[in-house]
Amino acid sequence: MSAILIDGKKIAEDIRSELAEKVASLRGKGVRPGLAVILVGDNPASVSYVTGKEKACAEIGIQSFETRFPEDVAEASLLEKIAECNRDPFVHGILVQLPLPRHIDERRVISAIDPTKDIDGFTPINLGRMLLEEPCYIPCTPRGIIELLKRSAVPTDGAHAVVVGRSNIVGKPLANLLIRKSVNATVTICHTGTESLAAHVRAADIVIACAGKPGLVSVDMIKSGACVIDVGVNRVPDPTKKKGYRLCGDVDFEGASKIAGWITPVPGGVGPMTIAMLLSNTVDAASRISGVQL
Ligand code: NAP
Repeated sequence: MSAILIDGKKIAEDIRSELAEKVASLRGKGVRPGLAVILVGDNPASVSYVTGKEKACAEIGIQSFETRFPEDVAEASLLEKIAECNRDPFVHGILVQLPLPRHIDERRVISAIDPTKDIDGFTPINLGRMLLEEPCYIPCTPRGIIELLKRSAVPTDGAHAVVVGRSNIVGKPLANLLIRKSVNATVTICHTGTESLAAHVRAADIVIACAGKPGLVSVDMIKSGACVIDVGVNRVPDPTKKKGYRLCGDVDFEGASKIAGWITPVPGGVGPMTIAMLLSNTVDAASRISGVQL
């Protein structure tokens, strides 16, 4: 392996200890940051994400309030719960774990969250403010990726970044952050309609794979010395594992790590940063809502 391994777990730990001090300071002034977590159904991946987020909250002194609904919950009940959280003075952030079941209008549910408590940054108001570079909550995964690039001193000014994926929660906001003057990359966004994905990725100084397709980015697509950020979290069957599967990203890690300049592992790369940014947004929300400066 010649690439520098970007240790997201370690960087996230550093951020979490910085945040623990901020939480202690808020609590010293009578404010305990609170996060409402809403989970629908029992999808194992969603349950595991929620458990991880709540554990991370507890570790730094953020209180979490979990509400679980059955898979067949009525949309009205979900909206009622969100309205209750919007009013609750002990709740500073509201997280609705996605995806929601098909019978529920995800956009309507997300839009019901008070933008001042939208710590995932998914409401139209926050996404609009992000575009305009006004104060807002930035979606956690894209924000975590920018933080990883900065803390790993990856040069971004004038770099060509290729983002593979254009979802509302990862690809689109990320591409937008990459073109901010403070990052200053030139961005290409690829998706399923892209012709010659390989040719685009080959031209990249920074490749960010967020497609959710194992093996999509193969070693022959990586330019020597490029920075490779793998956002994908895929479960692939593996009978040698107790759970019967293992996690992998969208990139051929073994191959790419031999020629890339920097690379993130899966797990242990982007995932821990997403959680760290969720905590950071929740602490910011508690400070803004309570009026207690940090
Ligand atoms: P998504 O909503 O399914 O979006 C996937 C995007 O990838 C779409 O824009 C799709 O293009 C594109 N895509 C799919 N196959 C492609 C292909 N063969 N060639 C080019 N583009 C392709 O997924 P998401 O929610 O953004 O998540 C993406 C991955 O990141 C998943 O594995 C997810 O588990 C992971 N993730 C990880 C974290 C973390 O914290 N580590 C956080 C969020 C997501 P179209 O638009 O044309 O369909």
